[in-house]
Amino acid sequence: MPDAALAETTPAEPRAGTRHVDVLVIGAGISGISAGYYLQTQCPGKSYAILEAREAIGGTWDLFRYPGIRSDSDMYTLGYSFRPWRSEKSITDGPSILHYVRDTARDLGIDRKIHFGHRVVRASWSTADARWTVEAEVGAEKRIARFTANFLYMCSGYYDYEQGYMPGWPEMERFRGRIVHPQKWPEDLDYSGKRVVVIGSGATAVTLVPAMAETARHVTMLQRSPTYIVALPARDRIAQWLYRWLPARLAHGVARWKNVALTMYFYNFARWKPELTKKAILREAQKQLGADYDVKKHFTPDYNPWDQRLCLIPDADLFKAIRAGKVSVATDRIERFTETGLALRSGEQLEADIIVTATGLNLRMMGGVELAVDGAPVVLSKTLTYKGMMLSDVPNLALALGYTNASWTLKCELTSAYVCRLLNHMDARGHQWCVPRRPQAGIGEEPAITLTSGYIRRASDLLPKQGSRKPWRLHQNYALDMAALRFGAIDDGTMTFGRAGATTRAA
Ligand SMILES: Cc1cc2nc3c(=O)[nH]c(=O)nc-3n(C[C@H](O)[C@H](O)[C@H](O)COP(=O)(O)OP(=O)(O)OC[C@H]3O[C@@H](n4cnc5c(N)ncnc54)[C@H](O)[C@@H]3O)c2cc1C
Repeated sequence: MPDAALAETTPAEPRAGTRHVDVLVIGAGISGISAGYYLQTQCPGKSYAILEAREAIGGTWDLFRYPGIRSDSDMYTLGYSFRPWRSEKSITDGPSILHYVRDTARDLGIDRKIHFGHRVVRASWSTADARWTVEAEVGAEKRIARFTANFLYMCSGYYDYEQGYMPGWPEMERFRGRIVHPQKWPEDLDYSGKRVVVIGSGATAVTLVPAMAETARHVTMLQRSPTYIVALPARDRIAQWLYRWLPARLAHGVARWKNVALTMYFYNFARWKPELTKKAILREAQKQLGADYDVKKHFTPDYNPWDQRLCLIPDADLFKAIRAGKVSVATDRIERFTETGLALRSGEQLEADIIVTATGLNLRMMGGVELAVDGAPVVLSKTLTYKGMMLSDVPNLALALGYTNASWTLKCELTSAYVCRLLNHMDARGHQWCVPRRPQAGIGEEPAITLTSGYIRRASDLLPKQGSRKPWRLHQNYALDMAALRFGAIDDGTMTFGRAGATTRAA
């Protein structure tokens, strides 16, 4: 539904029918809704709108519909700081997360700001006007709707919604059963009593496998190489105790900080003492799977913990399904597809009625939007991230990018709060634009995401870089980001400010 705050074109604007807002948010997932909350509460005088390509709120949690879909981080940190998570389960199912995000949007009136079915394709910054002109394709006929905005806030996630990653294998067309990708789960897929092979052993595979094993005849998780898998209780007893004795908001806040601290502690310990951490993870897996199980072959990666994301399994569900004989793990390579399953390099044949390719996502930054600054295209891989939330030499634009080693929402909320601080700072001083200007020299470039996971390596040429020092360096650490974004100076010598017509480039 259109928002009343969206004024029609002012006479100074070039195109009839263009609508203007102070802040235009792209995306109505977890981070877009959090952006709405911060804009409403911390910049109440600003008009804003959210453009959402799909017809629904929730992003990831609406798109993915595969069996067992759930979070793999706790909801006290994946949930919002401003809305207590009230369900008993801390690691919870996708539909509950979706309800939580939608209820938040509805209760705070953020849903009224959303324009559904608007896929943003282009955004051009003009320094002369100090504003963005944004083009969105609307509906199946792709009619172009134009918006202008003083500030653009990209909350568009990090992967391609159209297509998941699907490597090709020889002779796939020969397989007579069904091949399914988790990103496009068919509603009618009946797998009860069927033999299922799930290719992959990342977060999606370890979620899907025990869930499908509940009714399938047998599920095989086929992996090229193992992943670190850590079992945690789905319920957080300490949080439940806090909720019993404290007001919900306070209990939520304490549980959130507890989990922030624990996550940071375990991450830093794992990076400091990788061998010790590795031994502890493998010992626990062996305990869960029994002394005879070949943990070395199936659950021992050849990298250190947190070189790639760890996979979390609630209440050890995957290990339990393996022990019960409903699931087996094959660590091997696919030679080719056959009519009835897969031929593996070892010579083994896996018979299957259904093959699920849990092979991951295609990374896609900035929702695939073509960006230009004063007519020059922005090449993302040539930009540096500033405080992990803006791009070098791109004015009045922020992006919500979460952590790879903690809950996404933690960083997105810090970013939203910082955007509001920045906007208020600019208003107070009469600035119309701000741009983090990249120094001419003396700064090294590094990949923005240091994980070695396949989906990151595949997209490394498309991602912005991080710099070798502050404020261009990504912390992946909530406490340090909080210091930088909540309390750090806005006018820090790197951020440059000006008014319409003045150049955003260094003289
Ligand atoms: C299966 C799965 C499980 C996950 N589990 C966890 C977890 O447990 N913990 C965790 O921290 N993270 C997890 N993640 C990461 C997860 O994506 C984030 O936690 C979070 O949901 C991202 O929210 P977001 O709003 O930033 O992005 P998204 O959820 O991706 O939402 C982006 C929105 O922007 C819209 N959009 C994109 N491009 C455009 C465009 N050009 N124009 C208009 N609209 C556009 C999309 O349609 C979408 O609605 C998971 C990811 C996946 C895929």
